[in-house]
Amino acid sequence: MEKAALPVPPGSIIGIVGGGQLGRMAAMAAARLGYRCHIFTPDTDSPAAHVAMTKTVASYDDMHALRAFAAQIDVATFEFENIPIESLRLVAEQIPVRPSWKILKVAQDRVREKTFFNTIGLKTAPWRRVFDKASLAQAVAEVGRPAILKTARFGYDGKGQILIDDSTPLEDAWHCIDSEVGVVEAFVDFTRELSVIVARGVDGAWTAFDPAENHHTNSVLQMSQVPARIHSRMAVSAVEAGRHAAEVLDVVGILAVEMFVTREGNLLMNEMAPRPHNSGHWTLDACVTDQFEQFIRAVCGLPLGSPARYCDAEMLNLLGEEDVARWQNILNNPFARLHLYGKNDARPGRKMGHVTHLKPRTDIDQC
Ligand code: AMP
Repeated sequence: MEKAALPVPPGSIIGIVGGGQLGRMAAMAAARLGYRCHIFTPDTDSPAAHVAMTKTVASYDDMHALRAFAAQIDVATFEFENIPIESLRLVAEQIPVRPSWKILKVAQDRVREKTFFNTIGLKTAPWRRVFDKASLAQAVAEVGRPAILKTARFGYDGKGQILIDDSTPLEDAWHCIDSEVGVVEAFVDFTRELSVIVARGVDGAWTAFDPAENHHTNSVLQMSQVPARIHSRMAVSAVEAGRHAAEVLDVVGILAVEMFVTREGNLLMNEMAPRPHNSGHWTLDACVTDQFEQFIRAVCGLPLGSPARYCDAEMLNLLGEEDVARWQNILNNPFARLHLYGKNDARPGRKMGHVTHLKPRTDIDQC
């Protein structure tokens, strides 16, 4: 556990490395609590910088800019996973970086991440590390087909992944992922995908939101619904898995853990992210304290708020031009809460915003 630190008081400056929508919503939560944010991003027009006090526009490995950034802030965090570890280490020499770069190092790499889950007793789909065509062939022979080949690093929203079915030539699959190291994992015939978002403070106190049930299309999150249609016992196990991972990692901030529910009713961990998560956006409208405020509270050493849920919720991502063009229709529904990220370029599939539909709380087991 990090040595008990004085709270970083309201009025201080929080440095956020990364300028996307997660940084934007975190900066908005920070502003509500009286903080000011300084965004470090390579983008000249970033969603987070629109709502922050100031920004540094520089590449993530610009050590000079990082040092100057660290000198101007009171505490640092990050909202993006593919930041060079060296950059965060450099900032951490000057001021606290929460959560630690050591956690990002695990989460950035699927080999480390899956090894971590297994080491602490959390199950994953059977997997193997692969580094060339021969190790790929061996791995597929061991885990069986269908399997999924994923790059060990820099994959997101299904990028850097390929399904290996009965007819997939392994040679082609290996060329497709274009990576030095990958993992092969057994394809999970899941009944549900869940995520658990745990917040953990400097003092080790933790809270978790109700698990969300997530629906992906082409590996991109389309919808999260709460409550998840699982038995309350499974919800408890899912939260326990998230808490366990957060404790062992000594997370100060947010840890989101994505998992599969198998037909046999087991939970298999898929991946984790040490930052607010897309599948937790519903908390903005449905909870006493949302994931972004919990994040800011944890990073600043404040007490965590209640994660209690007022109502049921369904969060839909607005992807690309077509979805975002529906904004007027969405606003015509008084129980729909619209969130737009202020992005100019609505490329196909780009996350432009989300909408959360609120419904009266049902609170029943729907197995
Ligand atoms: P990931 O980048 O690992 O989160 O994968 C993106 C999505 O692909 C997941 O949310 C699942 O919908 C799907 N997926 C990933 N790995 C597996 C697997 N081993 N079996 C079945 N579906 C998977």
